[in-house]
Amino acid sequence: MAYQSVNPYDGKTVKTFEQMTDAQLDRAIATAATAYETWRGKTYAQRAVILSRAAELMHANVDTFARPMVLEMGKRIDEARGEIEFSSEILAYYAKNAERFLAPVKLNPTLGDAHMESSPIGIIFGVEPWNFPYYQLARVAGPHLMAGNVLLVKHASCVPQCAIAFEKLFIEAGAPVGLYTNLLISHAQSDRVIDDPRIKGVALTGSVAAGQSVAARAGRHLKVSSMELGGSDAFIVLEDADLDHAVKWAVWGRMYNTGQTCCAAKRFIVVEELADAFLAKFREALAALKPGDPMDEQTTLGPLSSEAGLVEIVKQVKNAVSHGAKIVLGGDRIDRPGSFMQPTILTDISPQNPAFREEFFGPVALFFRVKNEDEAIALANDSDFGLGGSVFTSDLARGQRVASRVETGMMFVNNISWSDAELPFGGIKDSGYGRELGNMGIQEFVNKKLVRFGTFEAPPTVKRVLVGSAKS
Ligand code: NAP
Repeated sequence: MAYQSVNPYDGKTVKTFEQMTDAQLDRAIATAATAYETWRGKTYAQRAVILSRAAELMHANVDTFARPMVLEMGKRIDEARGEIEFSSEILAYYAKNAERFLAPVKLNPTLGDAHMESSPIGIIFGVEPWNFPYYQLARVAGPHLMAGNVLLVKHASCVPQCAIAFEKLFIEAGAPVGLYTNLLISHAQSDRVIDDPRIKGVALTGSVAAGQSVAARAGRHLKVSSMELGGSDAFIVLEDADLDHAVKWAVWGRMYNTGQTCCAAKRFIVVEELADAFLAKFREALAALKPGDPMDEQTTLGPLSSEAGLVEIVKQVKNAVSHGAKIVLGGDRIDRPGSFMQPTILTDISPQNPAFREEFFGPVALFFRVKNEDEAIALANDSDFGLGGSVFTSDLARGQRVASRVETGMMFVNNISWSDAELPFGGIKDSGYGRELGNMGIQEFVNKKLVRFGTFEAPPTVKRVLVGSAKS
């Protein structure tokens, strides 16, 4: 049974789901194709009615959406509620702004008039991860549906209840059948979807391995794609930083969502004047977190999303230690039922240690001590990933300078407030390409069409420049 909810708090299977047959998948694609023919012709205002209604329904039923998330992947209830509110805001944001973002842009050619117009391209296939079961879906549904596309989505196999709840949300919001369809399908069936000529774009959020596989498949058919992949973000603390402020963000940045966030702070790079004090306070704060039921608002440390995820990260830690890393805190699973990991800090990670280049998708912090700002930047850039990063300093000009020199898609100065509906999100290098959210996020899967007006005479000979290399 590929699609199942297993509660990582107690290991119990909550519910299992049948995978779709190929015939059901074919029908879903055909239905989406039919829906597109109508949806593409709707006005922005008509589309906004559905998206706004979906946003309102999420906002009005926060706990109904939040609870399955807690049960399926162990997110703490207060974070789950926050995610529902944020997902609702993203849908509402695109309902309100899509028309403005996609309005024709006037150009100024030497002859005549011209503009760029934006039009939908068809069915977009989304492949999404479990770590933010609704937010990830809202990030594709808000922009791409408002742009006039329709969506088929394969969600992660461990969060089927959230996947189905989000599909139902659109039906309840009055969406036409086929506008947003959840697919309970295998990886092989996912390839079939990508191969189908009616699918015009692919948006994946997930691991590097999944990105490589899905992007290659899309590339074979020259289909546009966006890839939001992993990260190993640097958290740089310069010697003039406010230490307590930085430590609070360090704890949040590493531990939010029990450390299972692509753009979590994963490598803590501290200039030596502050290194000992930072490490002591960081260690103390992480050690104080209390494991418990993620449904209980008092719990400060939830389980990891799955037993497999826990086993994997414990293995990574042990491998790091066998290559010379030292454990300052934690290092193992917590001796209690459920998939709980001790908050962990590793130091002495040499560039030869596999941990130096790996993503730790859980509550494991890699700590590095550096001499100065230049060393901090060099270490931050010595990564295959390039998603986000942060720098803490009391000198904003210095913060700006460091932010500009770190090679990532996002940098945060004196905070790591990763995501807002208004702000583009995404990375470079192995962290992928393309952007979600903000104005940029809605531009990924639209046809940018040039239209030129002008009743000019055709040139008598090939005199000038309709093609760059043409010469008279
Ligand atoms: P994952 O194993 O790559 O899974 C993500 C999604 O891809 C799931 O729906 C999965 O389906 C599917 N998938 C995996 N391999 C596939 C293939 N060959 N063909 C078709 N579908 C495939 O990643 P994860 O462990 O769930 O999520 C964690 C990763 O996502 C981390 O690396 C994290 O950094 C990254 N992430 C990135 C962002 C971002 O915005 N940059 C945001 C969140 C997470 P199954 O579940 O059925 O395998």
